[in-house]
Amino acid sequence: MAEARQAELLALQSRWPARGSRPPRLVSVALGEGTPFSVYQRQQRRWAERLGVRFEAIVLPEHTGGEVLKERLRSLDADPAVHGVLLQHPLPPPLDFFDLVSGLSPEKDVDGVGSVNLGRLVAGRPLQVPAVARAVFTLLRHYRYSIPGRPVVVLGRSETVGLPTALLFLLRGEGGDATVTVAHSRTRDLARTTRQAELVVSCVGHPGLLDRRSVGPGAAVVDVGLSTRPDPNSPGGMAVVGDADAEALRGYASALTPVPGGIGPVTSVELMANVLRSWALAEGLGAVP
Ligand code: NAP
Repeated sequence: MAEARQAELLALQSRWPARGSRPPRLVSVALGEGTPFSVYQRQQRRWAERLGVRFEAIVLPEHTGGEVLKERLRSLDADPAVHGVLLQHPLPPPLDFFDLVSGLSPEKDVDGVGSVNLGRLVAGRPLQVPAVARAVFTLLRHYRYSIPGRPVVVLGRSETVGLPTALLFLLRGEGGDATVTVAHSRTRDLARTTRQAELVVSCVGHPGLLDRRSVGPGAAVVDVGLSTRPDPNSPGGMAVVGDADAEALRGYASALTPVPGGIGPVTSVELMANVLRSWALAEGLGAVP
C-alpha cells in the first residue's frame, strides 16, 4: 500500500521540471544522541532517499535551552534550501513543543502540528496535516472505501494524531463528510460508543482495546496504535502491536489494518509527501495531493 503511494509521488516528480539547485530537503532536529530519536532519524533518512528527498539529521545536546533551540529552528526556517523541519518530540520540560513548531513557516512545519496548520485544518483549508492522519485517508482511498455519511469513531484526541484525523473526516467533500464521534480516556461506556461505528480508527496505544465487544460485526478498523510487549519470538524480545486484538477480530470485522506494516509505512511516505508539497510550493509547481 505504501508502495502504491510512493509510486504515485515518484510519478508526480517525474512530471515536474528538473530540480535546479534546490532539491527537496528535510532537516530533522533531535535532542540527545543514542535516544529512540536516532532510530526515527534513520527511518526518516531511508524513506527520504526512496522519495527523492535530501535528508539531514541534526542532533543537539540533550540539555539544549529553549532560546538556543528556537534560534536554530529560526535559521533553518529562514534557509530557502530547507523545505521541511521536524522537531523530534516529546521534549524535556520546560521546552514547549507546540510553541517551538508554531514558530516555523506553515509550509515547513511538515509535521503539520503548529498553530497555523492546526487552525487551517479546523477552518477546512488544510495545508500541512500530520502524516499519520493523512495516511489513514490514503489507505481508505486506496481501498476505495467510501466515507461520506458514515458513522466513524476516532479513538484518541491528541493534537498530533487523533484530533487531526477526526478533523479530516469532518471536512466537506468526497474524502470527508463523515459523521464523526471522538472518544478518549474519559468516554463513558467506550464499547457502546465504538460498536455504533461502521469504521473505527484507533489512535490510543493500548493493546487489546478493540475486540468483539467493542467493534460492531462487519465494521472496519484502522489501527493506528503502536505499542510494544514482551515476546520471546520477536527480535530483541519485544513485539510491536496495535490497539486491536487481531485474532479476536479475524472473520468478524470487515477489514483490519495490520500492525506492524499497516499505517506505519504509509505515514512515512506521507511525511515525505509533506516535504514535497512544501518544495513544490516554493518552486511554484502547484499542489501535491
Ligand atoms: P497520546 O498523546 O498518548 O494520546 C492517546 C489518546 O488516547 C488520548 O487522546 C487519550 O485520551 C486516549 N486514550 C488513552 N487511553 C484510552 C482508553 N482507555 N480509551 C480511549 N481512549 C484512550 O498518543 P498519540 O501521540 O496520539 O499516539 C496515539 C497512538 O498512535 C500511539 O500508540 C502512537 O504510538 C501511535 N502512532 C502511530 C503512528 C504510526 O505511524 N502508525 C504515528 C503516530 C502515532 P485523553 O486525551 O483523555 O488522555
